[in-house]
Amino acid sequence: MAILDMRLLPDPILRKQAKKVAKVTPQLRRLVENMVETMRDQRGVGLAANQVGSLQKVAVIETPEMEEPMVLINPEIMKAEGERQVEEGCLSVPGYRGLVNRSEKVRVKAMGLDGKIYRLNAEDLLAQALEHEIDHLNGILYIDHLVDHESLYKITYHEHDDEEDEFDGDLDDGEDEAEESTESVAVETSDSGAED
Ligand SMILES: [Zn+2]
Repeated sequence: MAILDMRLLPDPILRKQAKKVAKVTPQLRRLVENMVETMRDQRGVGLAANQVGSLQKVAVIETPEMEEPMVLINPEIMKAEGERQVEEGCLSVPGYRGLVNRSEKVRVKAMGLDGKIYRLNAEDLLAQALEHEIDHLNGILYIDHLVDHESLYKITYHEHDDEEDEFDGDLDDGEDEAEESTESVAVETSDSGAED
């Protein structure tokens, strides 16, 4: 296994549409293993293949409640319900967070590493992660879903707790916001309630 190099904005691969995977090959399994290792190393909740330089339609997700990572090959959102505003970050857009519009619930279809199609219903953090990672595979970034243009802000880390702070990557749910402070770099809103 290996930790892969992260592709960061403005790398054009982040804006490309990933290609559908025809079948599960040993190479694909290796990519998935390396993506899981890279996601954990970066303390992310999810990772899409184009974030590590591959245009295959594959993503992995591992929320804190999961015992093992979820592998999504050729994932598609079949149904999305409700709307909510959530705070989000992305491993490919380091140092920023933003307030975005996301669905409350999603229904997703994907193929697993066993080559079988599965469907799942998700809400909360998992629904958010699914939307975020499937967006990546379609060349879409969370900054495309900002509530408004003032909802993106820069994070300033405290020096003493950089361990914790790494976890703002793909999508943490903002639980560590007490560790962060914001700086009005971009245009920070006065009343978004996203940060204190
Ligand atoms: Zn991301």
